[in-house]
Amino acid sequence: MSEDVPAIPLPEPSAVSAPYWEATRSKRLAMQRCVNCSRLVWYPRLVCPHCGGDELAWETLSGRGVVYAVSAHHRPALPALADKVPYSVVLIDLTEGARIMSNVFGVPPQVGDEVDVAWVPLPDGRNLPTFECR
Ligand SMILES: [Zn+2]
Repeated sequence: MSEDVPAIPLPEPSAVSAPYWEATRSKRLAMQRCVNCSRLVWYPRLVCPHCGGDELAWETLSGRGVVYAVSAHHRPALPALADKVPYSVVLIDLTEGARIMSNVFGVPPQVGDEVDVAWVPLPDGRNLPTFECR
């Protein structure tokens, strides 16, 4: 058995989320926007949850936002996160208007803190989006 620190499990994209994960190779936070009602759609889908429109276009977001909620973790949920505690599971209100779940590593942020996307490299060239306080 290896003594190596286990890796963060690789995300396995579906057909609909593949463009999202491809964008992370160039550290772009991509999200779908509904062509019919102009609202952002998160998570990636085939049909807009707001209006039922089926034409969704990918765009790159700023990666900026504000912390809406924080759950600080002092025990790792996965062995791969053992050296990252404390870390937080956070809800981020992105500047463009969508709310997403992500992580902040290190000192837990406060609700209302301004954050920017940060990237954890994955072994296959993709990057895992996390956030850090501005
Ligand atoms: Zn729509």
